[in-house]
Amino acid sequence: MQNIPLHEPQTGKTAPADRDFEQALRPLRFDDFAGQAQPVGNLKVFVEAAKYRGEPLDHTLLHGPPGLGKTTLANIIANELGVGFKLTSGPVLDKPGDLAGILTSLEPHDVLFIDEIHRLSPVVEEYLYSAMEDYRIDIMIDRGPSARSIQIDLNPFTLVGATTRSGLLTAPLRARFGINLHFEYYDIDTLRGIVLRSAGILNQPIDEEAAVEIAGRSRGTPRIANALLRRVRDFAQVKGNGRIDTDIASYALEALNIDRHGLDLIDRKILLAIIDKFKGGPVGITTIATAIGEDAGTVEEVYEPFLIKEGFIKRTPRGREVTDLAYSHLGRSPLDRSDGQPTLFD
Ligand code: ADP
Repeated sequence: MQNIPLHEPQTGKTAPADRDFEQALRPLRFDDFAGQAQPVGNLKVFVEAAKYRGEPLDHTLLHGPPGLGKTTLANIIANELGVGFKLTSGPVLDKPGDLAGILTSLEPHDVLFIDEIHRLSPVVEEYLYSAMEDYRIDIMIDRGPSARSIQIDLNPFTLVGATTRSGLLTAPLRARFGINLHFEYYDIDTLRGIVLRSAGILNQPIDEEAAVEIAGRSRGTPRIANALLRRVRDFAQVKGNGRIDTDIASYALEALNIDRHGLDLIDRKILLAIIDKFKGGPVGITTIATAIGEDAGTVEEVYEPFLIKEGFIKRTPRGREVTDLAYSHLGRSPLDRSDGQPTLFD
């Protein structure tokens, strides 16, 4: 069976081939950014106020599942403030020196975006504290006996941090963000609008109903909506007449193994593993991930939140359990639970 690579392991980001495509569809202004009304509404006020006072925007933390627009919004913040934008990510910054190089290159009020900020190493994180608080860093010069540290003043800047796991952020780092915004999954109507906007940018003719079909199978996630649009477009051009109507959209989504709830092969593997191997649960996330040969972090950050939100899985103190909805969606019955296999906890 074929599965579409909507997520990369670890990050939930798109495959490299899709990045240029994503770039072209990225909204550049608040007005083009659909949904997330509450965080965006607040942010507009904070940006306006910072501009009015001629100050940098407070450090801002964006958290929520992958593909919901955190990077996009960070970019928009810089555009709306009329300042420069630098992008890096937690795992890339492994030495304080890497961070120092970026910080000293910032112009006044620039936005520095650190994706996956929960994956910063402890030394780099500690180094960030004084930069965030006092716009100052210590730099070591020379080595050996003549080594000494000098303080450097930085231009005032805004750190925008993004994380899919805000629970993993240390308390001192979290406390240094003045603005803290949570991203929710998008509703179908908002995603329909995003699909239509993207199709417009791509000059791709599409029926309204077909956009609803794609939106409904996008797991509440704009990145997936755009990725599905791209693939459905391929089917429309090769198997259809070039236009995306509901028939070709349904045909393509079936062929891509995306079901009517937007579940893909891996989601179904997760649910079936819990049902068939662990009697419906409760079972720990690491055990589930091992059973299906996936990375535990990816299962926890990318797949599980959506399965919980849609009511296929519930979290209990003893582990994850599938719900009746999961049984009926997969055409199973709780009575089908296999016996003889131990239920594992972790
Ligand atoms: P994250 O940083 O949360 O993983 P991104 O900001 O990279 O997500 O968003 C992924 C893609 O989804 C972007 O390229 C953009 O085209 C699209 N996207 C995200 N949010 C929106 C939105 N609110 N409106 C329109 N497109 C969006």
